[in-house]
Amino acid sequence: MTALRKPHQVKITGIPGSPGIAIGPTYLFTKNRITVEPRRIKESKVPAEIKRFKDALDKTRQAIKGTRARAVEQTGDIVARIFDSHLLILDDVMLREETLARIKKEKICADALVDDFMQRMYRSLKAQKGEFFSQRADDVLDVARRIIYNLQGLADEYLTDLKKAVVVIAPELSPSDIIHLDRRYVLGIATNLGGATSHTAILTRSLGVPAVTGLKNITDLVCENQEIIINGNSGKVVLHPTDEVLNEYKNKRKRAKAFRTRLRKLRGLPTETTDGRRVHLAANIELPVETKSVIEQGGEGVGLFRTEYLYLTRGSLPSEEDQLKEYLKITEALNPKSVVIRTFDLGGDKVMPGMEFPKESNPFLGWRAIRVSLDMTDMLRAQFSAILRASTKKNVHILLPLISQLEEVKRARKILNEVMVELSSRGIPYDENIKLGIMIEVPAAALIADELARECDFFSIGTNDLVQYTLAVDRGNETIADLYSAYHPAVLKLIRLTVEAGHKANIPVAICGEMAGDPLAALLLVGLELDQLSMSPVVLPEIKKIIRSIDQKTAREIADKALTFHTSKDVEKYLLRTMKKLFADLPVWFN
Ligand code: PEP
Ligand code: MG
Repeated sequence: MTALRKPHQVKITGIPGSPGIAIGPTYLFTKNRITVEPRRIKESKVPAEIKRFKDALDKTRQAIKGTRARAVEQTGDIVARIFDSHLLILDDVMLREETLARIKKEKICADALVDDFMQRMYRSLKAQKGEFFSQRADDVLDVARRIIYNLQGLADEYLTDLKKAVVVIAPELSPSDIIHLDRRYVLGIATNLGGATSHTAILTRSLGVPAVTGLKNITDLVCENQEIIINGNSGKVVLHPTDEVLNEYKNKRKRAKAFRTRLRKLRGLPTETTDGRRVHLAANIELPVETKSVIEQGGEGVGLFRTEYLYLTRGSLPSEEDQLKEYLKITEALNPKSVVIRTFDLGGDKVMPGMEFPKESNPFLGWRAIRVSLDMTDMLRAQFSAILRASTKKNVHILLPLISQLEEVKRARKILNEVMVELSSRGIPYDENIKLGIMIEVPAAALIADELARECDFFSIGTNDLVQYTLAVDRGNETIADLYSAYHPAVLKLIRLTVEAGHKANIPVAICGEMAGDPLAALLLVGLELDQLSMSPVVLPEIKKIIRSIDQKTAREIADKALTFHTSKDVEKYLLRTMKKLFADLPVWFN
């Protein structure tokens, strides 16, 4: 008799979705494809078809509300907003009206009409640039699947009947799939599709389930019940691991767990270097519901509230009163911590279908951000007025995006002053000393930072755009993604220039691009003397840990040395070497 040979170990790499290491047997979750035939219906059956369609919408609404309640219970309000957007898609007037009209006129079954409508909506969202629209497009498919399941009387297939702890392998998982999975038995998740900021990644992070996405064909590589390791920090996946690799990862998992427990203890401690230089550690948020997570993660304020999401999620311009309500939710919950509210950064990739924006061949170099606000002064006045009215507790700052000309700051300041005068004349209170800051996210602004510093109260460096405009590399284009690096010497020089100009004029300088939350960049940024780092709430504890482990002199030396290299790769390699040397016991970030 021949002994069964163990298959060879295989290592593959995807995109880190949610941190943590999972080791266990695989569970393949591939759903049945739904088939939709454009069936003709008789005239006499039209009323019954209309009823079938309306019933399916009602059932789907109930189901989404159920999933939403489950999401609130498991993860809090933050992820529930994903299901709020599902309800908005479901209750889209066009979906209802168009389908009803077509059932009556074309006499085609509702399944095919819903499918057709949703596919068109999906394609139009996918055609837009940016992760935001890509996520919305995936949501559309999730809702479409639920409506069609209900029309066809099928039960939704969810991962609720797991009997033992497994690592789930799937082509992709929708937000509803994730919320319905039985967490007691899900050790980790690995999917073919998805990116770092997809809803799958956001949800798995909130649930604390390690995940790797974007593995392309993992479902073809594994069978049921095989041993697998997934590392949600590095995106690495090992199939059929050898005993040696298995032990190595078990050790790593133990260390990572202990590390996270230690980080929790830092929450109440100040963010300062070992020799006492304070760094203000703040969070970036897109919607007021995220305020809770800022507090949970120990954020010392909000360094960037991207108000355009109020516009984008509702699909129309929020009124002054609507804005005031949303701003107060954040400023009151965080008081006395500070909140930086950025005026609408619309245009570029942040355009909703249906919004009246001119067709431009280069939208990122076109009518966007402050340029839109200064042309639509009624919109800007209403926004300034709402922000000012939310500032009575004196913890609000205003931030202007994409400044490239001195006149833009002067014009915005003039309008702000006029709005203040008007509020005073109506006896409405506000913070008369409210700070007005500007984003430094184009090289021109960094190069004239000394002049700009005289016209504003603080700088916030937006490296996401600064990298794109300095290197002429589209931040959303995968083809040239390897050229997009915040470690490029040109970017580092512009950051240093901005900090020096700001400090010479006695104004604080923050950084609120993704770079601020990159553990590898933390020492460099502290060394460059940034006063505030603002990042996604989940990374706050790690960055605090790094800052609290170094003295300012060493950080400065690291920054000086980093600026001597000539390529992004060399800077990155140097920082990685330095981090590994300084944090020998904390390898969880880097392998
Ligand atoms: C940036 O450009 O770095 C930034 C923070 O703004 P956004 O990512 O919203 O463009
Ligand atoms: Mg920007």
